[in-house]
Amino acid sequence: MYDLIIIGGGPAGLTAGIYAVRFGLKTLVLERSFVSGQIALTEIVENYPGFKAITGPELMQKYKEHAEAAGVKTRLEEAHSVRNGAGAFMVSTGKGEEVGELFKAKAVILASGANPKHLGVPGEIELTGKGVSYCATCDGPYFKDKTVVVIGGGDSAVTEALILSKIVKKLYLVHRRAELRAVKLLQERLFAIPNFEFILNSVVQEIVRAKGKIPKVSKLRLKHVKSGEKSELATEGVFIYIGLRPNTEIFDVEKDEKGFILTNEWMETSEKGIFAIGDCRATTIWQLVTAVSDGAVAATAANKYILDLK
Ligand code: NAP
Repeated sequence: MYDLIIIGGGPAGLTAGIYAVRFGLKTLVLERSFVSGQIALTEIVENYPGFKAITGPELMQKYKEHAEAAGVKTRLEEAHSVRNGAGAFMVSTGKGEEVGELFKAKAVILASGANPKHLGVPGEIELTGKGVSYCATCDGPYFKDKTVVVIGGGDSAVTEALILSKIVKKLYLVHRRAELRAVKLLQERLFAIPNFEFILNSVVQEIVRAKGKIPKVSKLRLKHVKSGEKSELATEGVFIYIGLRPNTEIFDVEKDEKGFILTNEWMETSEKGIFAIGDCRATTIWQLVTAVSDGAVAATAANKYILDLK
């Protein structure tokens, strides 16, 4: 029996873990993959105080070392359900009929993060990993000296476009509006790139597979949102950054219409004893600093909740 189980070992989850062990809580972090959190897939972080510039994997490694040194216990397991049993929460790794392992705790913090959203156009699923990607840091090197298109206008799209610009021959950014949502500093860096071109007020209607046995991308079918004019754009790679999809399907707590978990300022969810933090929670901005802040708040609230149980 643990005091606290934290589902997700990204920056939010590990911060909650560090705070929890300092409160004296017997704490377990369940993390489904060695690559924890979106930050581990981020090439460079420049807005985390204390580090002028640090790579995502390096920062994640520092979080892990810190958590381990603080005494946070982590298991490489994927949680598939959280149930409120007799006097304890049951977190199970069993999927469907599968039994899996069962962990018990007095309180649970959901820190399951988010993944990139899908465009939902023909060709996207079929060509994922075959020209369609959601991670420039991971897949960018496959497109050396090729043409690639980034879709989206937020911080992720521009950050990843900047990474790709150093690798590819020609880079396009397709965005559905005339203005980008990304912070000005990132936009200015993008505008300064010579091998870059904007395609604004345009949406992707289809990602077209090249002829031949080997599946790969040949072009995009685009539509101008104002004129309705249709066009085609030849490309070998498509990098999609149109926002986040929270990993919250398995949690039976109140969520917003996009699936982000609703909490109060103490990170309490609609279920007493269950807290939610970081990218899986409905909030105003999803940043590293806000994720770690959420972690500190939730651990403090969970400690109080557990003390009040006695
Ligand atoms: P985001 O800020 O929600 O931006 C998503 C972009 O995709 C928007 O430009 C949006 O267009 C566009 N979009 C959404 N749905 C679309 C669709 N169906 N078809 C075409 N375009 C679509 O998402 P994000 O860039 O992934 O960022 C998520 C969070 O992480 C944000 O809080 C961001 O600040 C943070 N982040 C921070 C950094 C950093 O600080 N360096 C880096 C990455 C991410 P509209 O503009 O028209 O809505």
